[in-house]
Formats: sequence, C-alpha cells, structure tokens
Amino acid sequence: MSTEFNLIEKYFTRTTRQTDLGVGDDAALIRVTDGHQLAISSDMLIAGTHFFADAAPYDVGWKSLAVNISDMAAVGANPKWATLAIALPKTDEAWLSEFSRGFFTCADTFNIDLIGGDTTRGPLNISVTIMGEVPTNKALRRNGAQVGDDIWVSGQLGNAALGLAHLEDKIKLENDALQANLDKLHKPAPRATLGLALRNIAHSAIDISDGLLSDLGHILKASNVSAEIQLDAIPCSTYSKTNLSENIIRQCVLAGGDDYELCFTASQHDREKIQEISNALNLPISHIGNIQAGRGLIVLDANKKTVSIEKTGYDHFAKP
Ligand code: ADP
Ligand code: MG
Repeated sequence: MSTEFNLIEKYFTRTTRQTDLGVGDDAALIRVTDGHQLAISSDMLIAGTHFFADAAPYDVGWKSLAVNISDMAAVGANPKWATLAIALPKTDEAWLSEFSRGFFTCADTFNIDLIGGDTTRGPLNISVTIMGEVPTNKALRRNGAQVGDDIWVSGQLGNAALGLAHLEDKIKLENDALQANLDKLHKPAPRATLGLALRNIAHSAIDISDGLLSDLGHILKASNVSAEIQLDAIPCSTYSKTNLSENIIRQCVLAGGDDYELCFTASQHDREKIQEISNALNLPISHIGNIQAGRGLIVLDANKKTVSIEKTGYDHFAKP
C-alpha cells in the first residue's frame, strides 16, 4: 500500500535544474534573477468542468501545466517553477503514473521545475501555481492598449472548441481534422516563446482561454478603449472553412475557449517586426483588427455588416 509520502516521492519528485530547495521540505527555496520581477499565476482544473473525469491522465497532466504556462506567456514572463496541489478520489497508480508523465513531459519541454505542492484525498481536482521571471517593468499587461494599435492573434482560433463540440456530439469531425482538434483541446501548446519575443513590442496582451471576444474584451475594459475586428481576418483551419456551417465556425472562432493562443496589441509601426517574429517561430500571427477610442467591440463580416453571436465566451458563473 502506498502512503501519501511514497506517492509524492514516486510521482512528483524529480531532479530540479534552477531551484535551491525543491520537493521534500516544508517550503521550497528559489532565487529570483537580479533586475527581475516574479510573475505568479494559478489555474485550477476540476474533473467534470475542465476535463472529462475519464480523460486520458497523460493529457490532464500536460494540460494542467500548459494552461499555467500560457498565463506566463501572456505577461511576457519566462516560466521557471511550479507547485501542484492535487486531490485524488483514490490511489490509482496507473492514473498517477500517466498524469505524472504528462505533467513532467510538459515541464521538461518548457524547462520548469516542480518545487512543491500538496496531495490529498477528495474529488479529482488539480491546482497548479506557476512562477516565472520578467525583467522589472517589462511585463505585458491588459491595460496598455492604445488607440490606433493593431490587434493580433497567434495560431488558429476555434479548433479546441470544435474538438469539444465533437465530443459533445454537436458536430461530427473526421480523420486528421478530428485528431488535430482533439490534440488542440487536450494538449495545448502554450505560446511561451512568443510571449518573450513580444516583451518590447506588445502594448497589451492576454491569452485566449475563454474565447476571443471575452478575452479581448478584458483588454478593452482594462485599457478603456474599443475595437473593431474583421471576422474574415481571424485565422481558422481550412477544414472548418470547407466542412462546417458558417454559424458553427463563427461561434467557435469568436467565443470558443481553450485555444491558449495569444491576443495582443501593438503599434502599426511594428508590423514588420511582428512578421519577423512569426517567421522565426514558424507560427502564423494574424492582424485581425484595430483599437479605437470609446467603448465596445464590433465584429464585421466581409460586407462590413456587424456580426452578432449568442455567447461571447465561457463564464463559470454565468446564468444558463
Ligand atoms: P507539509 O505537511 O509540511 O505541508 P506535505 O507532507 O504536504 O508537507 O508535503 C511534503 C513535501 O512534498 C513538501 O515539500 C510538498 O511541497 C511536497 N508535495 C506534496 N504534494 C506534492 C505534489 N503533488 N507535487 C509536488 N510536491 C508535492
Ligand atoms: Mg510542514
């Protein structure tokens, strides 16, 4: 029979690379590089809300860290340390082993040390806190958008939401598209390097976790500005364009959560620099609209008609 301490040792203790004291004592010790601020963020994943209780444990492990790395990318911080608080309904070593493998594969990919946490019994619930470094006063924030700024998004939007819609039997995806969209939903690739590259360029940034309209809305509110975006300029997969109804694409692209792409604003003078970053990272970055004075967010279709949609994004406390 495994005790709590055997489990911690077996599944959550690894050699650290940039930590003075890691898992095993009452607190971890880290050293922040001179001239830097510590960026800290937490994200909780609850079975049944953020993932299906029977989801592949490898994917749950990967995603629980990846969504936190995405928050570091959004503020332009270099992620370095994480803690993991986990509640498990029972000691399922096969599940733990796969969860731990997914978690540490992500940690190794992005060079992050797991430095501590808590392990208890309870309904399956995973809470990760991540810490990263950003040169003092260089963090990207939501409140820096300026009138005239271009609005950009990385990658493609809507794919994770399409994968989810398939799992919920709302649409039917096939073959490669099904796999790609499920991968995007279960194993998101946080835009860590893009976040770092944008430090001296972006005026504001956010990661798209709840849906473009909802998350861009946070930038607009924090910056006291409005925006106009062009639906056709928002990147989505060719598969969706050719196989799915316009209504579904709109809903997923504008309001689908779980993409973990970055949305940011930057001066129109920096278009060339952004193109260079896109080339260097081999990651499409698309100009989808502009920041304007006033309040509100307008989406225009190809005929310059206003597009309206039912739901702007995911909200855990929204009334049904
Ligand atoms: P304490 O009782 O002092 O709070 P714990 O017994 O909860 O400590 O944990 C023992 C050590 O294992 C601590 O260093 C803690 O940070 C670490 N730890 C516990 N659970 C996890 C986990 N899921 N992942 C990583 N480290 C963990
Ligand atoms: Mg203690």
